[in-house]
Amino acid sequence: MSEKLSRLKEILGEVSDLNHAASVLGWDQQVNMPPMGAEARGQQLATLGKIAQEKFTDDEVGRLLEDLQKEYSDVETDDGAMIRVTARNYDKAKRVPASFVAEQAVVGAKAFEAWVEAKSKSDFSIFLPHLEKNVELVKKYISFFPPADHPYDILLDDYEPGMKTSDVKEIFGNLRPKQVELLKKIANAKQVKDKFLSKKYNEEKVWAFSEKIISKFGYDFNRGRQDKAPHPFETSFSVNDVRITNRYEVNSPLATLFSAMHECGHALYEMGVNPAYERTSLAHGTSLAIHESQSRMWENLVGRSLPFWEHFYPELKKTFASQLDGVSVKNFYKAINKVEPSFIRVNADEATYNMHIMLRLEIEIGMADGSIRIKDLPEIWNTKMKEYLGITPANDAQGVLQDVHWSSGLIGYFSTYALGNIVSAQLWEKINKDIYNLDEQIRKGKFEQLREWLREKIHVYGHKYDPQDIVQKITGSKIDSTAYVRYLTKKYSEIYDL
Ligand code: MG
Repeated sequence: MSEKLSRLKEILGEVSDLNHAASVLGWDQQVNMPPMGAEARGQQLATLGKIAQEKFTDDEVGRLLEDLQKEYSDVETDDGAMIRVTARNYDKAKRVPASFVAEQAVVGAKAFEAWVEAKSKSDFSIFLPHLEKNVELVKKYISFFPPADHPYDILLDDYEPGMKTSDVKEIFGNLRPKQVELLKKIANAKQVKDKFLSKKYNEEKVWAFSEKIISKFGYDFNRGRQDKAPHPFETSFSVNDVRITNRYEVNSPLATLFSAMHECGHALYEMGVNPAYERTSLAHGTSLAIHESQSRMWENLVGRSLPFWEHFYPELKKTFASQLDGVSVKNFYKAINKVEPSFIRVNADEATYNMHIMLRLEIEIGMADGSIRIKDLPEIWNTKMKEYLGITPANDAQGVLQDVHWSSGLIGYFSTYALGNIVSAQLWEKINKDIYNLDEQIRKGKFEQLREWLREKIHVYGHKYDPQDIVQKITGSKIDSTAYVRYLTKKYSEIYDL
């Protein structure tokens, strides 16, 4: 290894250590910290973030990258890829002044407070001036970069490197009419019964069952843990310390099982990254959409499938004998896949979920290019809900105020959720060609071959390939909704007898 490369890796290693230490603090904030600790924690995180940023944007890094890009121009090699990704991150970090980052944090913190109040009072006008300010800052952020085909491209690129607004519009444009058609058919079919899902289930037993499932998936409790937190998430500090959180909801007690599978999907990705990438820019999953393709696959394509429950249901039924008395595995399977248009995105089922995302994407694009006035958002929101899902929110809390993202200036993020669904189905078709008896294996509770396939084709590469490139490399085509439509249509035609 050249001297310059080892110097770059030394700096990146320190930056990574600082960022991971901040992540530990962030995890602690959600899991353990008493409420009064928030202010000091905010300062600690800001300080660590500032030091990491200064280290990373030092001119020495720029000089090293310039020389190394010539020396390691083959991006198929690990070092070449690492330098390519680092140079891209460096360029972005250099364009955005530290003073802007600080301003955005301050404005975002106030906007978050206003959002909490606005949501609790269901009054968009409280949030409006703060959201306007956030959008102004987002436009300023865009102005730091060379003009793109569409201003939203700049935002999207932070989450899905290399993806364009036109790509996402095309993918969703193909999907929307087909998904709307399917939803109409389901709406006219006989609804499935799911009352038993909202009975009282013992929290400890549900929690233990969730850990049994993810252990079988291959989540390694020697390299991870599951803790309670207000929102389920996955976070990793190294390839050998990948943690997940979960919660128990009284109204939806078995949701804990599906959240565990979801976060485990994220965790298996991080646990599977090539250990040689530790403390470099390649050390984590490549994008939010590819990450989400993993979590959704374990949660939905595996965890909401009939073969899966043919394996696990007998034990579930034994554990919750009174709750599931008289419920067959087939009816349980139908219940956990019930389709019902609803107002809240995070509670949406597989068939309606993407509609929530498309609505948000259109609004975000309009905010970024100025074609939407922020004060019109509640009305635009409600009109689109009616158009896409046939329902109209009774108030702003149920509508435009439900998500936290825009309060902290996160614009450009939402589409990654839907892209994850789409990619999960594309991969699933390929997996089922490569593993001919996958259903049979799942029915026996065997997940090794599936997990190893994912590890070998995706996980191990970490950040080496951009999202479109890795999907292309595996499936032979770029991100495309055809497989997803096939998957939804087949699944729901059976469940709803369409
Ligand atoms: Mg997720």
